Amino acid sequence: MQNVTATLVAYLHTCRRKLWLHANEIRMEHTSDLVAEGKLIGDTAYDRRPDKYTQVELDGIKIDFFDPRTRTVHETKRGRAVEAAHRAQVRYYLYKLRQHGVADASGIIEYPDLRKTEAVPPLTEADVLEIEGWEAEVRRIVALEQCPPVIRVKICSSCSYYDLCYAGEEA
Ligand code: SF4
Repeated sequence: MQNVTATLVAYLHTCRRKLWLHANEIRMEHTSDLVAEGKLIGDTAYDRRPDKYTQVELDGIKIDFFDPRTRTVHETKRGRAVEAAHRAQVRYYLYKLRQHGVADASGIIEYPDLRKTEAVPPLTEADVLEIEGWEAEVRRIVALEQCPPVIRVKICSSCSYYDLCYAGEEA
């Protein structure tokens, strides 16, 4: 059975084609400047992080910044957009923590470019059911014989799969 990760959950909320390509080992991230910049921001932020944060690994999912004292997940995102995928990723971390006995964890998403933070509250029972539905949907999409179609939206221009999806088309 497909191992569901926070990345696949984020892609479920971004583009199902991207989810399928990534899960089926078709990787182009290394060609994306945006991903490289994102990693850089993460590294820089890490340098500034106080010792209170620890890295947690649960079922192969790595949560880079977890404050065990306040049971808070911190996630930093570059760019000038607050995306549903960011929130979904952090909610999936909270779901995993809950499965491992930390039911009241919450999250904070930091957007340094926007000078903004977004709070992600602890999950309710209804949230857990919703996230279980995400897992089922991720597994369904990954198992599809055919790659889902191109979605032709604004985010495509900054997606690492752009060249693959739009090969042969005029820029
Ligand atoms: S370029 Fe667009 S359609 Fe292709 S994987 Fe990325 S987001 Fe999806």
